Amino acid sequence: YRKCGGCQLQNLSYPRQLAWKQDRCQKLLGKFGKVSPILGMETPYHYRNKVQAAFAYDKRRGRIISGVYQSSTHKIVPVDSCQTEDETADRIIVSIRGLLKDFKLQAYDEDTGRGFLRHVLVKRGFSTGQVMVVLVTGTPVFTAKKHFVEKLRELHPEITTILQNVNDKRTSLVLGEREKVLYGPGYIVDELCGCRFRISAKSFYQINPVQTEVLYSKAMEFAELSGREKVLDAYCGIGTIGLVAAKHGAGQVLGVELNPDAVKDAIQNARENGMKNAWFTCGDAGAFLEEAALERERWDVVFMDPPRAGASREFLTALCACAPKRVVYISCDPETLSRDLGVLQANHYKIEQIQPVDMFPHTQHIECVVRLTRK
Ligand code: SAH
Repeated sequence: YRKCGGCQLQNLSYPRQLAWKQDRCQKLLGKFGKVSPILGMETPYHYRNKVQAAFAYDKRRGRIISGVYQSSTHKIVPVDSCQTEDETADRIIVSIRGLLKDFKLQAYDEDTGRGFLRHVLVKRGFSTGQVMVVLVTGTPVFTAKKHFVEKLRELHPEITTILQNVNDKRTSLVLGEREKVLYGPGYIVDELCGCRFRISAKSFYQINPVQTEVLYSKAMEFAELSGREKVLDAYCGIGTIGLVAAKHGAGQVLGVELNPDAVKDAIQNARENGMKNAWFTCGDAGAFLEEAALERERWDVVFMDPPRAGASREFLTALCACAPKRVVYISCDPETLSRDLGVLQANHYKIEQIQPVDMFPHTQHIECVVRLTRK
């Protein structure tokens, strides 16, 4: 806990972590109304469905290590198993470290830019059991690739797809642009709230699927869908919220998202779930909504789920101009949420319900879903 720094609250018992988060929400959001008691996890361990490990050669120990970067540094803290990460994923990463030695493959060296394996990314669909392994390499050359993949599958028959992602840039981003499927379909499928979702290596997917169902159920309750509503899913990722809404009573859904890979997944997801009333478009949510406001587009309900930075000012202004009856704001940062709620409150929106959900036990991160209605 002290070395890694990823779990800032692990010194507290789980009930006290929840109390800390409740208190923080109260301080930041209490001025807008009552903050409902945070919805915590029954078993707050091994909840992460996506695990990322950095690889390096440790000169002092004389061996390859894998693990996480120490908070705000580029020093790797070796990790074999972690209480927040999926256990299957952790085991696969340890196996890959062993295989590197057997195949005489090197870990990437950040200082010289030489070497082979930079990172391993594992994603697992908790409800389907499907597993994706992404080997992020510093060079496209992968000697004994076929044999390596065979060996890995032998050790872990639960793996359903393996990819190589080439990242030859001096960057702290994990994934590079080029991607090659080495085994299987190149994506995994998971199920949430009765919908099936295709997840690719690069697209965003909520990392705690158990609590995501809790979060989305609240979001649907707040949206009060009756079968007729025209719904916008802003910052829609691979379309999860919009498609769950389409299944649970939205008349029609439009999703907007910046990442083109995620939009492709969203379109495919709509098709695979047989949703004929859901469409997705690629672009900046603010610019999209500004244009929609000019064209006098109207939505009954807008779901918005921006990244930590919150929504842009142009997005909020255009949102108020479109005047949806209800807004369901899903936020992963109560500070930017508080800022944005202030803007919406000053522009004809009433904040009716504030519900924190613990998506990231042991860390300081707080997720909230807020229901707003137009005055
Ligand atoms: N609603 C989705 C994804 C939420 S994460 C879910 O629940 O799974 C936030 C998403 O916003 C990411 O997919 C990110 O790519 C996207 N995003 C970031 N900035 C954006 C912008 N300016 N316009 C549209 N989408 C953006």
